[in-house]
Amino acid sequence: MTESVHLNRRGVLFVLSSPSGAGKTTISRKMLEADGDIALSISATTRPPRPGERDGVDYHFVDVDTFKQMAADGEFLEWAHVFGHRYGTPRARVEELLAAGKDVLFDIDWQGAQQLYQEAGPDVVRVFVLPPTMEELERRLRSRGTDSDEVITARMARAANEISHWDGYDYVLINDAVDECYGEVKAILRAERLKRRRQIGLIGFARDLIRSVPDADTKL
Ligand code: 5GP
Repeated sequence: MTESVHLNRRGVLFVLSSPSGAGKTTISRKMLEADGDIALSISATTRPPRPGERDGVDYHFVDVDTFKQMAADGEFLEWAHVFGHRYGTPRARVEELLAAGKDVLFDIDWQGAQQLYQEAGPDVVRVFVLPPTMEELERRLRSRGTDSDEVITARMARAANEISHWDGYDYVLINDAVDECYGEVKAILRAERLKRRRQIGLIGFARDLIRSVPDADTKL
């Protein structure tokens, strides 16, 4: 039996964006549970924690001054104003994960996706998840039971704005059924991992395959 071959590859910076309520959180949670090779980038935010959210797990909750200082010190890979608060991706964790051979999952908005792409270009894969209809999105937002009518109205307006940036993404999925959508996200990640330019170990591997045939270059 031959030994299985493991080649080093460049990590994927996997961005999953969607308006809130479109199912992105469920999909990213499933991905992180099922796949030990991808880990979540934990953003810093000036938004106050919601019930149940934990500092350092869901977000790093910081005050505006701390956030501004972090931005001034170049600690963010990207940052943006969203819903009247600041959100940013700390650079250090992403670099550590990549150095450890992991892929990184980003739950960030279109502004973040754009900036990350400017920073890291071909390593970034941008996936956008759309709701099947706006009525369904509103129904999902209301079923959470956590937000007032005013907040829901603001979220719907924000969702329409977020959706208008769909064409800044590499893949756009419609989340009609969450399991199906999750399957599609997994397929995208799998294919992206296999891309030739990410498989940095391939050059040596292919060279060794060729060299293992005696006089391969002289018999052509
Ligand atoms: P929420 O406050 O509901 O957790 O997130 C609001 C929005 O901010 C979501 O669309 C989420 O994707 C986005 N977001 C979260 N963290 C970041 C970040 O670090 N950078 C950017 N640009 N957006 C973020």
